[in-house]
Amino acid sequence: MPLLPDAGVTTEMPAIAGTYGASERTTTEDLYRAMSLALPDPCGITRLSDGRYVEVNPAFCQMFGLERDEVVGKTSLELGIWASPAERERVLQAIARDGRADQLACTANARGRQVSGLMSACAVQVSSDSCMVFVFHDMTREHAVYDSLSAAHALLSQAGKMARLGAWEANDHGVLQRWSDPCCDIHGLSPGTPPPGDYIDLFVVPRFQGEFRERIRRCLKDGTPWTLEIEIVRADTGQPCWMRVRGEAVRGGDRTTVMHGVMQDIDSAYRAEQALRESQERFQVIFNLLPYPMGIVRCDNADYLDVNPAWSLMTGFSREEALGTSVIELGIYTPEERRRILSHASRAVDLAPLEATLRQHDGQLRTVVQVMRKMRVGQIECWLFALHDITDRKRAEEAVREREAVLSLTLEAASLGLWDADLITGMVSGDACWHSFRGADSKAGSVVSWDECASPHDHAALVAEFRRHAGQPNQPFDAIATPAGALEGKRWLRNLGNIVAWDDSGKPTRMLGVAIDVTDQRQHEMLLQRLAHYDALTQLPNRVLMAERLDEAMRQARATGKLLGVAYLDLDGFKPVNDRFGHAGGDQLLRNTAERLTASLRPEDCVARLGGDEFAILLPDLTTPEDAERALERVMRFIAAEHRIEGLPVSVTASIGYTLFPRDDADADTLLRHADQAMYQAKQAGRNQYQEFDAAREREARHVRTQLAHLRAALVAGEFELYLQPKVDMRSGVVVGAEALARWNHPERGVVSPAEFHALIDAPENETGFGAWVVSAGLRLIERLQQADTNLPVSLNISATHLQQPGFAEWMGEQLARYAMQGNDYAKLVDLEITETAALFQLEAVAETLEQLRAMGLSISLDDFGTGYSSLSYLRRLPLNILKIDQSFVRGMLEQQADLAIVQSVISLARSFGYKVIAEGVETEDQGQMLLQMGCTLAQGYVIARPMPISAFIDWARTWQAPVSWRQ
Ligand code: C2E
Ligand code: MG
Ligand code: MG
Repeated sequence: MPLLPDAGVTTEMPAIAGTYGASERTTTEDLYRAMSLALPDPCGITRLSDGRYVEVNPAFCQMFGLERDEVVGKTSLELGIWASPAERERVLQAIARDGRADQLACTANARGRQVSGLMSACAVQVSSDSCMVFVFHDMTREHAVYDSLSAAHALLSQAGKMARLGAWEANDHGVLQRWSDPCCDIHGLSPGTPPPGDYIDLFVVPRFQGEFRERIRRCLKDGTPWTLEIEIVRADTGQPCWMRVRGEAVRGGDRTTVMHGVMQDIDSAYRAEQALRESQERFQVIFNLLPYPMGIVRCDNADYLDVNPAWSLMTGFSREEALGTSVIELGIYTPEERRRILSHASRAVDLAPLEATLRQHDGQLRTVVQVMRKMRVGQIECWLFALHDITDRKRAEEAVREREAVLSLTLEAASLGLWDADLITGMVSGDACWHSFRGADSKAGSVVSWDECASPHDHAALVAEFRRHAGQPNQPFDAIATPAGALEGKRWLRNLGNIVAWDDSGKPTRMLGVAIDVTDQRQHEMLLQRLAHYDALTQLPNRVLMAERLDEAMRQARATGKLLGVAYLDLDGFKPVNDRFGHAGGDQLLRNTAERLTASLRPEDCVARLGGDEFAILLPDLTTPEDAERALERVMRFIAAEHRIEGLPVSVTASIGYTLFPRDDADADTLLRHADQAMYQAKQAGRNQYQEFDAAREREARHVRTQLAHLRAALVAGEFELYLQPKVDMRSGVVVGAEALARWNHPERGVVSPAEFHALIDAPENETGFGAWVVSAGLRLIERLQQADTNLPVSLNISATHLQQPGFAEWMGEQLARYAMQGNDYAKLVDLEITETAALFQLEAVAETLEQLRAMGLSISLDDFGTGYSSLSYLRRLPLNILKIDQSFVRGMLEQQADLAIVQSVISLARSFGYKVIAEGVETEDQGQMLLQMGCTLAQGYVIARPMPISAFIDWARTWQAPVSWRQ
């Protein structure tokens, strides 16, 4: 290291001296001094043993502001050269360790200023002292440059970050070598990530890869700079991102050595631009699609800049005709109209619509509503306008006004009152006619509360109808009410209305309607109502009203627990009065009766005329059955009092049947029917009386009816059979015949006797067909007996009703004819047993029938003889063959003298009339013997045989023998 010349140190630098020869020393010293003097960095020599300066150069002195003499011989500590003693320590440690210090960063204290620099030193021998030669390089300037450079760099990278702009560099093969952090950021990589070698494949969206490679190729080839907007895929999100990338070549000779450029994230800008573009396109589409005529005109000269198809359609001008031409030139608006529109538009706050008249291409005028708004198209101020063609609406309004005028005339002519109800406040207004309907002389338009319009009596019905209408708005409100204040029943208004407005929540707010005075119609209806419910002759309620009242009375009886009397009344002897006095007299009697009925009853009772001379009476609220009887006695008394018809006295009585509800717990129709049945019984029992309906009898009749139905079904199902009970001659022991007796082969109960199905036997023949079955089954029995060579007559029991059927004899003939056709004349084998107990009303007719039957060859037995009432007259008037002594006499004859006497008389009666006689119910041999003694040889009874099926009978007949006692 160069040293200062004048300190004689040369000799103290053996290492150096050793290097150069003595002759060269001065030269070397000079050289060193010059170098040290010229060296811009402070340098010097210190002795290692005591740290004192041996020499320093002018730069050192200058830096520390010290003269050389002030320095030499002092230590750095004494002079305060270092910012801290540690600095010097570090240098000495390096020397001790390595023999040198190489550009060690140290901070010196120069004139009170901290100066950082690089300290280089090495140990040398100067004379005999171990010294250190040092040089200190002040780094202040470099630091300042570095700081400003790094500030600039930070600024740049901040700007890059903010602009999302990064720099890149690629080699002469176009392979990316490095890039700045914003590039990483754009690609979704963490800062500092090096660019990948296969950047294009990895990041660039495929459709841009070809172009990207082409640009790089060209740039490498001939240095063409390039810019591309491409999409890359971010590494973090996998989302595409728009990026602008530029590249430039750095050329060396005729080739590109390096390529560098920038990348910028333009995604949001690009997308915003795209969105704008799309929104503009959308606007254009909407503009063209909107059904409203729209357009843009210049503010300055009213030239059209654009119009949509709806505008062309309405005006009749094509877009091409319109563009560049003014509104006035096209004649769409007159200059005055346009001035008016513009003055309105300039005053209008916001889009205020204006009605205007527009001329179409064909010269027709249209009324439009126009809205306008100022806008800019580029630099040009324009009006954007939209039109709404209201010509048709205007015309419709006109038509409505005309119709309204006609309607109001109609309303007036039809005497309709108009009303308008505010459903929120409940207030109603109306025209003069409506007010006059209400009987108020209020002026048209004055308002009243709805409940003051109608009588309170009608309020509930009006509210109910309103609710109904609100629920079904397509069916108008329709209610008839009496105006409040009008006399009840004097005036009626029919109100027809419709809800015409609703609030946002769907609540009706307004109803409009008309009122029609329907008083006449109503009165007419009431008259009809009266006719429908009252009997014209007597003014009493008729059957219809009575049915309603009966329902009501039944409800009431159920509620109160009291009795309700339902009576059916029929006049006795009305027909003769009618016949005698004619209809007028009859009507008079009926009117009298009605009055008397009404007079005899309590006000709460109800009497109705059911037709003819029949009346129904309802007696509600009875405590005991006797109450009903008392009331009916009174009724009978009133009616029985003498009437005067055409001045002449007339007497009639009443037959009444009644029933008491709920003791008779039936429905309304049945109650009436029961009363009717009871009335019939009263008539049967001799008239002029009342009879209560007998529920037990009715129950029995019902039971019989159901039983009959079962029996009829059993008959159809073939469950009936005829058994045969033999008739014998006791004396000779000969079987003379058999009686056919019906049996029911019940599927569960076995063989059932007639006592249990007498309902079937006693029922009218036509209802059951039982008699017909007996006859045909009986004839079949005869046939079978014949086939079994048992030539015996069979007795068939014929009920009185069957026998009295018109044409019975002919019918019987037909039955026999079926067999006769096959050559079997069974007439002589048929005996008909008719019973004396049955009601043979028309003896003459029966006698004739029997005569016919006998003429056909049949024989007739009178069954159960002696038990009936008119045995003798039967004997006298009916043509018979056989008398059957009833078993009841036979049974008792051995014990009872009276029975024996009867049997005896019957036998002699028969003999005197020339009839055969047969005893029924012979149960013992003794009875048989007694009968034989009395001259009755024919008998039937259990002692002989019980009734049995035909097969058994045939066997029995072949083997039977009479008891020995009878044969003697
Ligand atoms: P009915 O015509 O007087 O018949 C005689 C009844 O006396 C029979 O009763 C018979 O079984 C019964 N009987 C015969 N011998 C004796 C006896 O020794 N002791 C007792 N206790 N009874 C004896 P059944 O068959 O029960 O018939 C009862 C009634 O039913 C008959 O009286 C007749 O009126 C009627 N009936 C039976 N079958 C028919 C029929 O086919 N048509 C009609 N219309 N009525 C019939
Ligand atoms: Mg009989
Ligand atoms: Mg009998």
